[in-house]
Amino acid sequence: SDMAGLCVRSVLVTGANRGIGLGLVRQFLGMPNPPEWVFAACRDPKGQRAQELQNLASRHPNLVIIPLEVTDPASIKAAAARVGEQLGGSGLNLLINNAGIAKMNSLDNETLENMMQVYTTNTVGPLLLSQACLPLLKKAAQGSLGSALSCSKAAIINMSSSAGSIEEVYLWNYGHVVSYRCSKAALNMLTKCQSLGYRQHGVLCVALHPGWVQTDMGSAGSQKPPVTVDESVQGMLKVLSSLTEKETGTFLDWEGKVVPW
Ligand code: NDP
Repeated sequence: SDMAGLCVRSVLVTGANRGIGLGLVRQFLGMPNPPEWVFAACRDPKGQRAQELQNLASRHPNLVIIPLEVTDPASIKAAAARVGEQLGGSGLNLLINNAGIAKMNSLDNETLENMMQVYTTNTVGPLLLSQACLPLLKKAAQGSLGSALSCSKAAIINMSSSAGSIEEVYLWNYGHVVSYRCSKAALNMLTKCQSLGYRQHGVLCVALHPGWVQTDMGSAGSQKPPVTVDESVQGMLKVLSSLTEKETGTFLDWEGKVVPW
């Protein structure tokens, strides 16, 4: 009922084979009014790492597993084309740029290679995939009634982090992760730019902090994160269902609170 307002016909989630991405896919499939198509993108759809997605797909014919390596522009183009094919004439309502990596380095041992790899994955990937999906998002926006922005119409959700908030610098003592913080601060700026550029096309754009979540990434240090994947995803879907024109270009957390840039 929390998600009653979220009525998505099609959604594409990246990094969908584990962690928060897999949790998102599970909860979309479990909705009382599930999407007609849930596109779960991952690097190796046929491999062992996608086992859970394969199990889900055997029970849910509306789940389509799509190969996607977000650091490879050709793979991004192919994934968008594959989604478009499956959708036939209709558009894509929701793109969730969730795939991401973190390198647990300190300020002193960050390297060019880390900086580039993390930026390419966390920032450039979402830029290029959003570009590639824009025609499909536009189509969804045009095909829906009314002009008000919403996730049920067309939206890009970028999975960011309070670690990239310049005001919060969340969990600094837990890890410097400079490459990660810079990539998410840049992703936040990308989100703002997308909101300005895509508003005219009816596409809402928001950056989300999922909380500190019990996933491989969240649990990489010695402490146990406080938030489960299910709690985080449930919170974020509730937030998505509530987004309007007012929130496009903002940075929110999984409980709907504004995160300072
Ligand atoms: P995980 O490490 O558990 O999962 C990361 C996912 O991203 C995996 O599916 C992984 O696929 C995929 N991925 C990584 N690199 C690529 C790539 N080059 N191409 C395609 N897919 C890729 O992370 P979480 O689930 O915890 O994180 C999801 C998002 O949430 C990230 O953007 C992260 O920064 C953000 N976040 C997480 C927090 C947390 O506490 N967990 C806190 C704040 C933000 P593969 O299995 O192939 O590696």
